[in-house]
Amino acid sequence: MDRVAICPGSFDPITNGHMDIISRGSKIFDKLYVVVLKNASKNPLFTVEERIELIKGATEKYPNVHVESYSGLLVDYARKVGATVNLRGLRAVSDFEYEMQITSMNRLLNQELETFFIMTRNQYSFLSSSIVKEVAKYGADISELVPAVVEKALLEKFREK
Ligand code: ADP
Repeated sequence: MDRVAICPGSFDPITNGHMDIISRGSKIFDKLYVVVLKNASKNPLFTVEERIELIKGATEKYPNVHVESYSGLLVDYARKVGATVNLRGLRAVSDFEYEMQITSMNRLLNQELETFFIMTRNQYSFLSSSIVKEVAKYGADISELVPAVVEKALLEKFREK
Protein backbone atom coordinates (compact mmCIF):
# COMPACT_ATOMS: atom_id res chain seq x y z
CA MET A 1 0.00 0.00 0.00
CA ASP A 2 1.24 3.49 -0.84
CA ARG A 3 2.32 5.67 2.09
CA VAL A 4 0.50 8.92 1.44
CA ALA A 5 1.10 12.14 3.41
CA ILE A 6 -0.27 15.65 3.27
CA CYS A 7 1.75 18.78 4.01
CA PRO A 8 -0.66 21.63 4.73
CA GLY A 9 -0.01 25.33 5.15
CA SER A 10 -0.63 28.84 3.92
CA PHE A 11 2.62 28.98 1.91
CA ASP A 12 2.32 32.76 1.41
CA PRO A 13 4.85 32.29 -0.17
CA ILE A 14 6.75 28.99 0.03
CA THR A 15 10.21 29.40 1.64
CA ASN A 16 13.35 27.26 1.83
CA GLY A 17 12.13 26.18 5.29
CA HIS A 18 9.00 24.66 3.71
CA MET A 19 11.18 23.22 0.94
CA ASP A 20 13.35 21.50 3.54
CA ILE A 21 10.30 19.72 4.97
CA ILE A 22 8.87 18.87 1.54
CA SER A 23 12.13 17.50 0.11
CA ARG A 24 12.78 15.33 3.18
CA GLY A 25 9.13 14.21 3.26
CA SER A 26 9.24 13.25 -0.42
CA LYS A 27 11.96 10.71 0.39
CA ILE A 28 9.95 9.10 3.17
CA PHE A 29 6.48 8.93 1.62
CA ASP A 30 5.38 7.46 -1.70
CA LYS A 31 3.12 10.44 -2.34
CA LEU A 32 3.15 13.84 -0.70
CA TYR A 33 0.29 16.28 -1.23
CA VAL A 34 1.26 19.87 -0.51
CA VAL A 35 -2.05 21.56 0.21
CA VAL A 36 -2.66 25.28 0.33
CA LEU A 37 -5.42 25.85 2.85
CA LYS A 38 -7.72 28.75 2.13
CA ASN A 39 -7.61 30.50 5.47
CA ALA A 40 -9.95 33.47 5.51
CA SER A 41 -8.53 34.91 8.75
CA LYS A 42 -5.20 35.82 7.13
CA ASN A 43 -4.63 38.61 4.65
CA PRO A 44 -2.46 36.93 2.01
CA LEU A 45 -0.01 38.66 -0.32
CA PHE A 46 -0.36 36.00 -3.04
CA THR A 47 -3.65 34.52 -4.25
CA VAL A 48 -4.18 30.79 -3.76
CA GLU A 49 -3.60 30.26 -7.50
CA GLU A 50 -0.32 32.21 -7.39
CA ARG A 51 0.84 30.26 -4.33
CA ILE A 52 0.06 26.96 -6.06
CA GLU A 53 2.00 28.00 -9.17
CA LEU A 54 5.01 28.99 -7.03
CA ILE A 55 4.96 25.69 -5.11
CA LYS A 56 4.64 23.76 -8.38
CA GLY A 57 7.60 25.66 -9.82
CA ALA A 58 9.70 25.04 -6.72
CA THR A 59 8.85 21.33 -6.39
CA GLU A 60 8.86 20.23 -10.03
CA LYS A 61 11.97 18.13 -9.42
CA TYR A 62 10.05 15.88 -7.01
CA PRO A 63 7.79 13.60 -9.08
CA ASN A 64 5.88 12.27 -6.04
CA VAL A 65 4.93 15.75 -4.79
CA HIS A 66 1.47 17.02 -5.80
CA VAL A 67 0.12 20.51 -5.16
CA GLU A 68 -3.52 21.39 -4.53
CA SER A 69 -5.71 23.78 -2.58
CA TYR A 70 -8.54 22.96 -0.19
CA SER A 71 -11.13 25.01 1.60
CA GLY A 72 -12.64 22.52 4.04
CA LEU A 73 -11.39 20.62 7.05
CA LEU A 74 -7.90 19.17 6.78
CA VAL A 75 -9.08 15.77 8.03
CA ASP A 76 -11.60 15.60 5.16
CA TYR A 77 -8.88 16.47 2.66
CA ALA A 78 -6.71 13.66 4.11
CA ARG A 79 -9.58 11.19 3.66
CA LYS A 80 -10.16 12.44 0.10
CA VAL A 81 -6.56 11.75 -1.01
CA GLY A 82 -6.16 8.60 1.11
CA ALA A 83 -3.47 10.07 3.38
CA THR A 84 -2.64 8.58 6.78
CA VAL A 85 0.03 11.12 7.72
CA ASN A 86 -0.10 14.87 8.25
CA LEU A 87 3.45 16.20 7.87
CA ARG A 88 4.39 19.40 9.70
CA GLY A 89 7.61 21.30 10.24
CA LEU A 90 8.79 22.43 13.66
CA ARG A 91 11.05 25.42 13.98
CA ALA A 92 11.28 26.40 17.61
CA VAL A 93 9.54 25.88 20.93
CA SER A 94 7.25 28.73 19.94
CA ASP A 95 5.67 26.49 17.26
CA PHE A 96 4.95 23.75 19.78
CA GLU A 97 1.85 25.02 21.53
CA TYR A 98 -0.01 25.84 18.33
CA GLU A 99 0.99 22.55 16.73
CA MET A 100 -0.13 20.61 19.80
CA GLN A 101 -3.52 22.33 19.69
CA ILE A 102 -4.22 21.59 16.03
CA THR A 103 -2.79 18.07 16.28
CA SER A 104 -5.13 17.27 19.17
CA MET A 105 -8.11 18.68 17.32
CA ASN A 106 -7.25 16.78 14.13
CA ARG A 107 -6.86 13.56 16.13
CA LEU A 108 -10.28 14.09 17.66
CA LEU A 109 -11.78 14.56 14.19
CA ASN A 110 -9.94 11.71 12.47
CA GLN A 111 -8.16 9.01 14.44
CA GLU A 112 -6.77 7.48 11.26
CA LEU A 113 -4.59 10.53 10.59
CA GLU A 114 -1.23 10.67 12.40
CA THR A 115 0.69 13.94 12.57
CA PHE A 116 4.45 13.63 12.00
CA PHE A 117 6.88 16.46 12.72
CA ILE A 118 10.18 17.11 11.04
CA MET A 119 12.53 19.49 12.80
CA THR A 120 13.86 22.08 10.44
CA ARG A 121 17.53 22.51 9.67
CA ASN A 122 19.13 25.07 11.98
CA GLN A 123 19.66 27.59 9.22
CA TYR A 124 15.88 27.80 8.65
CA SER A 125 14.74 27.83 12.26
CA PHE A 126 14.08 31.60 12.14
CA LEU A 127 12.52 31.56 8.70
CA SER A 128 8.85 32.30 8.07
CA SER A 129 6.85 33.56 5.09
CA SER A 130 6.03 36.73 7.06
CA ILE A 131 9.64 37.65 7.79
CA VAL A 132 10.59 37.07 4.15
CA LYS A 133 7.77 39.38 2.99
CA GLU A 134 8.77 41.99 5.53
CA VAL A 135 12.38 42.24 4.35
CA ALA A 136 11.61 41.71 0.63
CA LYS A 137 9.36 44.76 0.80
CA TYR A 138 12.45 46.89 1.47
CA GLY A 139 14.56 45.26 -1.22
CA ALA A 140 16.66 42.91 0.96
CA ASP A 141 18.52 40.03 -0.69
CA ILE A 142 16.33 36.96 -0.09
CA SER A 143 18.05 34.59 -2.52
CA GLU A 144 19.19 32.26 0.29
CA LEU A 145 15.74 32.17 1.87
CA VAL A 146 13.31 31.27 -0.90
CA PRO A 147 13.32 29.29 -4.18
CA ALA A 148 14.33 31.36 -7.23
CA VAL A 149 10.74 31.45 -8.60
CA VAL A 150 9.55 32.99 -5.33
CA GLU A 151 12.33 35.58 -5.26
CA LYS A 152 11.26 36.72 -8.74
CA ALA A 153 7.56 36.76 -7.82
CA LEU A 154 8.20 38.80 -4.66
CA LEU A 155 10.27 41.35 -6.57
CA GLU A 156 7.44 41.71 -9.09
CA LYS A 157 4.75 41.89 -6.41
CA PHE A 158 6.46 44.71 -4.55
CA ARG A 159 7.25 46.54 -7.79
CA GLU A 160 3.49 46.53 -8.56
CA LYS A 161 2.63 47.95 -5.14
P1 ADP B 1 0.41 27.65 8.78
O1 ADP B 1 -0.56 28.76 8.45
O2 ADP B 1 -0.23 26.28 8.85
O3 ADP B 1 1.34 27.93 9.91
P2 ADP B 1 2.71 27.94 7.08
O4 ADP B 1 2.73 28.06 5.59
O5 ADP B 1 3.23 29.07 7.87
O6 ADP B 1 1.24 27.58 7.43
O7 ADP B 1 3.49 26.63 7.51
C1 ADP B 1 3.19 25.36 6.99
C2 ADP B 1 4.07 24.30 7.66
O8 ADP B 1 5.45 24.57 7.39
C3 ADP B 1 3.96 24.30 9.19
O9 ADP B 1 4.10 22.97 9.63
C4 ADP B 1 5.12 25.13 9.63
O10 ADP B 1 5.54 24.80 10.94
C5 ADP B 1 6.15 24.71 8.60
N1 ADP B 1 7.21 25.69 8.42
C6 ADP B 1 7.09 27.01 8.13
N2 ADP B 1 8.30 27.61 8.07
C7 ADP B 1 9.21 26.62 8.32
C8 ADP B 1 10.63 26.58 8.43
N3 ADP B 1 11.37 27.68 8.31
N4 ADP B 1 11.21 25.40 8.71
C9 ADP B 1 10.44 24.30 8.88
N5 ADP B 1 9.13 24.26 8.82
C10 ADP B 1 8.50 25.41 8.53
